[in-house]
Amino acid sequence: PAITNHMPTAELQALDAAHHMHPFTTNNELAERGARVITRAEGVYLTDSEGNEILDGMAGLWCVNIGYGRTEMADVAARQMMELPYYNTFFMTTHVPAIALAQEITKLAPEGLNHVFFASSGSEANDTNIRMVRTYWAEKGHPEKTHIISRKNAYHGSSVGSGSLGGMSYMHAQGGMPIPGIHHINQPDWWGEGGEMTPEEFGIARARELEEKILELGEEKVAAFIAEPVQGAGGVIVPPDSYWPEIQRICDKYNILLIADEVICGFGRTGNWFGSQTMGLRPHIMTIAKGLSSGYQPIGGSIVCDEVAEVIGAAEFNHGYTYSGHPVAAAVAMENLRILQEENVLDHVRTVAAPALKTALESLTGHPLVGDLAIEGMMASLPLTPHKESRAKFATDKGTVGYICRERCFANNLVMRHVGDRMIVSPPLIITPEEIDVLITRARRALNETH
Ligand code: PLP
Repeated sequence: PAITNHMPTAELQALDAAHHMHPFTTNNELAERGARVITRAEGVYLTDSEGNEILDGMAGLWCVNIGYGRTEMADVAARQMMELPYYNTFFMTTHVPAIALAQEITKLAPEGLNHVFFASSGSEANDTNIRMVRTYWAEKGHPEKTHIISRKNAYHGSSVGSGSLGGMSYMHAQGGMPIPGIHHINQPDWWGEGGEMTPEEFGIARARELEEKILELGEEKVAAFIAEPVQGAGGVIVPPDSYWPEIQRICDKYNILLIADEVICGFGRTGNWFGSQTMGLRPHIMTIAKGLSSGYQPIGGSIVCDEVAEVIGAAEFNHGYTYSGHPVAAAVAMENLRILQEENVLDHVRTVAAPALKTALESLTGHPLVGDLAIEGMMASLPLTPHKESRAKFATDKGTVGYICRERCFANNLVMRHVGDRMIVSPPLIITPEEIDVLITRARRALNETH
């Protein structure tokens, strides 16, 4: 029989465990526990196969910015599939959805970022970036300028290239990453690593690690520095105010390209179109994905400044994906950008949702387990601690307490994620204050049940 939403949950779970390998999962556990089967979604709520309504405090994987169930997105996809379901943009061909989306993105991007190279995901886009910055310097007559500096605990994707850019040691332990020529400096995580320093002192100290690394490698060998404006999957690390100006100064001084990975921060999550605007950076390249289509179709890309595009454009760039600028994905992304603009979603974030989320999460900081609140727009983290004043960590240091808390959230029909012992929230941008109240009620219950 056909596999449908109407099958008993246990049967779906058994088939899932038998045949479907999940990302970032201990797959053999699926047979014992069974994955939760999500059947549909509307607004900020998911429904599972048992009929539970789960508040999605993570917007999927930080991506469903406009919320679920927007029929306009499906209509656009259907129309585009009927008209032109696929064509590529290799070999001197193009099509309207890719042209229109590239233009629209560059209208929203900071000045000077006027060119887009499309991919289907953030990982692919960051692989593009590795090759693009190295090609740029080679074309400029500096073929030895190949090294890229990134940060520990950064997440830039899961392909071999982007996973190498990322600084997740548990990923590097599997499958031969990082590839040569990629280096990781420490992250500006004051709460976790700041010790006795003030946040401002610590921000400067961590930024200066970039300068030290450039001097160690030799300025003539460093192609680029890549970072998320606000580190997301690493635990929503909001840097001290002193951090980004110092990083920008160092990039300018040593003439290295700055890549801002906007895969999470882009398209409204920090209250501006891009996190670079919120944090005051001037990147040469921005990585985009996720919120570009609100996850309704897989699409990503690199937004590239005039200077880099000019140099790359003079050579044949031997790089691209079958689905670069995919017409259906591009049309759906365009509709997403229309909704974000016409419905003033960024205004909603700035004036309603982000202030409400902040106030609501602040009310959780009185909980004995919650050590602090880090928040920037619609992304936030609550580090859990056995002792607030000393910012102590739990003895296991394996995120066991965070894991338990996440499980308790899920049991209370709330999706929150944990990164180690930090609890993460990143809901759809269209969430209302009433829905934020529901989120907080469920989160508080989960915290009370975390032992
Ligand atoms: N960059 C950042 C900052 C991300 O958060 C992610 C995904 O979480 C990626 C890149 C990778 O994107 P994708 O999963 O679409 O390949």
